[in-house]
Amino acid sequence: MSAADLQDPRFTDETAAREALEDIVWPNGPHCPHCGNADAAKLAKLETKSARPGLYYCNECKGQFTATVGTIFERSKIPLTKWWLAMHLIGSSKKGISSHQLHRMLGVSYKSTWFMMHRIREAMRVGGLAPMGGEGAVVEIDETFIGRKGGFEVRQGAWHKNAVLTLVERGGSARSFHVDEVTKAEILPIVRENLSRESHAMTDEAARYAQLGNEFAKHDAVDHSRGEYGYTDRKTGAKININTVEGYYSIFKRGMKGVYQHCGEKHLHRYLAEFDFRYSNRSALDIEDNERVAKIVEGAKGKRLMYRRPSESPLA
Ligand SMILES: [Zn+2]
Repeated sequence: MSAADLQDPRFTDETAAREALEDIVWPNGPHCPHCGNADAAKLAKLETKSARPGLYYCNECKGQFTATVGTIFERSKIPLTKWWLAMHLIGSSKKGISSHQLHRMLGVSYKSTWFMMHRIREAMRVGGLAPMGGEGAVVEIDETFIGRKGGFEVRQGAWHKNAVLTLVERGGSARSFHVDEVTKAEILPIVRENLSRESHAMTDEAARYAQLGNEFAKHDAVDHSRGEYGYTDRKTGAKININTVEGYYSIFKRGMKGVYQHCGEKHLHRYLAEFDFRYSNRSALDIEDNERVAKIVEGAKGKRLMYRRPSESPLA
């Protein structure tokens, strides 16, 4: 992000920040979150001195609300300008950004910054999506382990708590899942739910993937145990490898190692959501900073989150 970007009124002017938020939360004008009333004639903006900026009154249910109700921003004491800047920085930094760094950049306490970041990750988390891939699409599937002892090195072993399964479509998006263990019983249901039947699946040689060929249009595997990193199918010209998903893991691990030192097991799914989001909304897919941050705000709807327990602290 350049210095010119930092002059964006959403980062400097609270009214501009609020109006930009309203535009995304209420694309068709304000509506009451209490009763659903969207009739402009029955909604009044409260512009008295004592009213909070952006406060509306609903003539239908007599309730009051702002655009932040029901979003990750609800009841936050942090100015919306800082939320916009935080979303922008998280959305545009390829490997992520540490809470220490963000805390210094925003001038918000470390603890509040940490809470903000987890709320923003929650906004980046997408669920209930249609299956990935499709006819002619290649989707690579692989697993990895995010270690804790002595850093974030890969550790092979079923005992590991931080096992991750990822599906990446070549030239498309990524979806990652925190799984209990890397077994057929755990992995296949996720693959079936998230991969369209017409897709060409690529994996390593692991036995847990052996039956994919029966369930999807095509399945190819590379045998890493034989030192094989990929080959070209002479008949179809298809590149048989899982380099894309391995590249995804390399970004994820560099980010986790350098930036996110205190990732507890219970938060792993949110970090995965953050990396999936950035990967799936990257510049190479013609999605630029502004659109990316708008997508985060879009995802902030219906994600009201409260962190209260001290056990949620990153250092606990
Ligand atoms: Zn109402």
